[in-house]
Amino acid sequence: MSLYSLETERVIQEIKKLGAEVVGLQFPDGLRSRATEVAERIEKETGALVLVSGDPCFGACDVSDRKMRGLVDVIVHYGHTPFPLDYEVPVIFVEAYSAADVSGVLRRAAEMLSGYRRIGLATTTQHLHLLDDARRFLEERGFEVLMKPGRNTEPGQVLGCNFSGIRGLDADAYLFIGSGDFHPLGIKLFTGRDVLVADPYHGEVRNIDEFADRVLRVRFARITRAMDAERWGIILSSKEGQRRFQLAENLKGKLEEAGKRAILIIMDNISPDLLLPFRELEAFVVTACPRVAIDDSPMYDRPLLNPSELEIVLGERDWEDYTLDEIII
Ligand code: SF4
Repeated sequence: MSLYSLETERVIQEIKKLGAEVVGLQFPDGLRSRATEVAERIEKETGALVLVSGDPCFGACDVSDRKMRGLVDVIVHYGHTPFPLDYEVPVIFVEAYSAADVSGVLRRAAEMLSGYRRIGLATTTQHLHLLDDARRFLEERGFEVLMKPGRNTEPGQVLGCNFSGIRGLDADAYLFIGSGDFHPLGIKLFTGRDVLVADPYHGEVRNIDEFADRVLRVRFARITRAMDAERWGIILSSKEGQRRFQLAENLKGKLEEAGKRAILIIMDNISPDLLLPFRELEAFVVTACPRVAIDDSPMYDRPLLNPSELEIVLGERDWEDYTLDEIII
């Protein structure tokens, strides 16, 4: 059985209902290996021609409706919930819920949380369908479970750029269901509480503290190095849900007020080789996806900072108030 549900039967019915003749498919990197199988089945069962996006895709901030406009009648976007954007082509969203069994890690997490009472529950799109069961499981063991919707997110859902759903919950600790460290890191930094990760893929429950310490050490080293930079690049994303032109323009003004030089660079995907030709620039601020500067930091030869980190460089924010960047539309 496949680990993620691509709901191909539902997708086929919706394509037929729309009478689409050309269908665009867009997968996140982890699911693109299923593209051939899905494309062949859709072509066979609907008679439509399928066009698969081969570009990287990390979120609903990046639905390829502009690229595919005029070519396709509908886009099927996998792995994410919708962003509040006006898409130019009709989009069918398929969350790609995970079929991973979380019962084992939940049991262990409940034991490790025994010293706490009020638990904030959080996850990413792939496990949203498990939250009600997880809530019941924890409540049966005496915990009070806290969840609320955020701005444009479901109850308990966090995105790498949107933690509005977990802030202000008044939880004693948080339990994050899923894999990866970035989302629990965000929960830790925005709440200051203990955060446990119940990771069904590795079958483990871990505290995020050690990872958070490691990331903060790296970030402080990058920020310190960037303090000496005189010439800056401010990266603006061309992806619709990540494009923050006004912010980029403001940051340029702030840097110039501080006696530095800065140029704006617009990019679709940000990578070390694409920044190489900008040899004169000593540091970059990324106004695109907040994950780029944090996750990919070791790959770059010069500091890549988030806008809130630039505030530390410019003396507008204290080190103690370190925070992650968010794009909340
Ligand atoms: S901006 Fe980044 S974190 Fe937010 S949805 Fe897009 S890829 Fe995900």
